[in-house]
Amino acid sequence: MSELFIAARALVAGEERREVAFLVEKGRFSKIGDAKSLAIEAARRGTKTRRFPEDRLLVPGFINGHSHAYQVLLRGWADDWSFDRWRSDALYRVVPQLTPEDIYWVFVFAFSEMLAAGITTVAEFFYLNGAGNAHAEAAIRAARETGIRLVFARTWMDAAYAPDAYRETIEEAQSRSEELLAAHADINFCVAPHSLHAASPAMIEAAAAFAAEHDCMLHVHVAEAAYEGAATLSEHGATPIRLLDRLGALNERCVAIHAIYIDEEEQALLAARGARVIHNPMTNQYLGDGICDISGLRALGVAIGLGTDADVKPSAIDEMRAASLLQKIARTDGAAFGARSAFDLATASGARALRLDAGRFEEGAFADFVVLDARAIDPWAPAVNALVYRGEDAWVQGSFVGGKRVAGREPSPAAIAARERLRGIAERLIP
Ligand SMILES: [Zn+2]
Repeated sequence: MSELFIAARALVAGEERREVAFLVEKGRFSKIGDAKSLAIEAARRGTKTRRFPEDRLLVPGFINGHSHAYQVLLRGWADDWSFDRWRSDALYRVVPQLTPEDIYWVFVFAFSEMLAAGITTVAEFFYLNGAGNAHAEAAIRAARETGIRLVFARTWMDAAYAPDAYRETIEEAQSRSEELLAAHADINFCVAPHSLHAASPAMIEAAAAFAAEHDCMLHVHVAEAAYEGAATLSEHGATPIRLLDRLGALNERCVAIHAIYIDEEEQALLAARGARVIHNPMTNQYLGDGICDISGLRALGVAIGLGTDADVKPSAIDEMRAASLLQKIARTDGAAFGARSAFDLATASGARALRLDAGRFEEGAFADFVVLDARAIDPWAPAVNALVYRGEDAWVQGSFVGGKRVAGREPSPAAIAARERLRGIAERLIP
């Protein structure tokens, strides 16, 4: 199965190119080049061809490096609470009650929202493993049915304070992770020891060993709040990044989520170990966390991606804009972080951060892309700047994963059904 996509306009490596064509075979870009010559070749071979006119702009599919999809249920009623209250009275109260059936519908809902916003890959940091793999299976099924590319960061959590629905022993986490891996060889499976406060040092060491043995990535929340640094220093004699390093978890497999409260030496250590960072600028503002120094980390060559984390509004465009604006304000410098860099975080750099062959129009990469309505782009403006500073999710006309159109402008029947299901779930669970 091959198909040729011809774009009057496309953003290739951040540059706008005109009359460019993408040949897709087996879900990947197999040839990229001049529209005219590839069209002639396609016609000769009888390859199916699809053309996007001048009022459309093709961009690589956005990479969502960190999400907790079930947090869509916390929207609205728990908005303006302190982090501690939000976690104990909303997150830890509602989410543990979700059944596998609930999880399926919540994830169909959230993944559909993401696809409608041009997010074609999501790294889902998934907590509900305390009762076995049934919940995880439901989330994976939702990804398959909506068509979003899933990076499944399966949480490991053993802290005494964690709800039973999240908590496991190290042995349980290992064996259930192995089961999931065996059952879903085609998904991008990662281990995710929750954080330095919710996973014991022994569990983090075991997760790092698991990641090495199974050649998978290790996602971990780190230094999201200032208290964590003080706590790890007093309990373990090291600040968070140094502690991860000591536990053997800071390496090229490590995807550090947040990395806000880290010092310069920790930044350098993170870079030297080849670890990656996911920045969640909208959630960091929403929860009052702080601002990750992505300018500094990027200068050190760290692969950084963006995440929608709490999913108050899963939008890669909002995250790009926030990523740029927060750096400008943190450094009081309008040149601190430009549109092109922000776009890179949501696409190529974000994919690199997840060790994923996507986020760019390049031969061999997954054929994941988004078709945008380009009519609101000022003729004198570079498209990438228009997208980052003026773009709207409503510009998304279609999202393609592996060359297949999985979402369009109108919500799918599944997305509509999921919204109705969520009404019932919310009535049952929200206090
Ligand atoms: Zn998170």
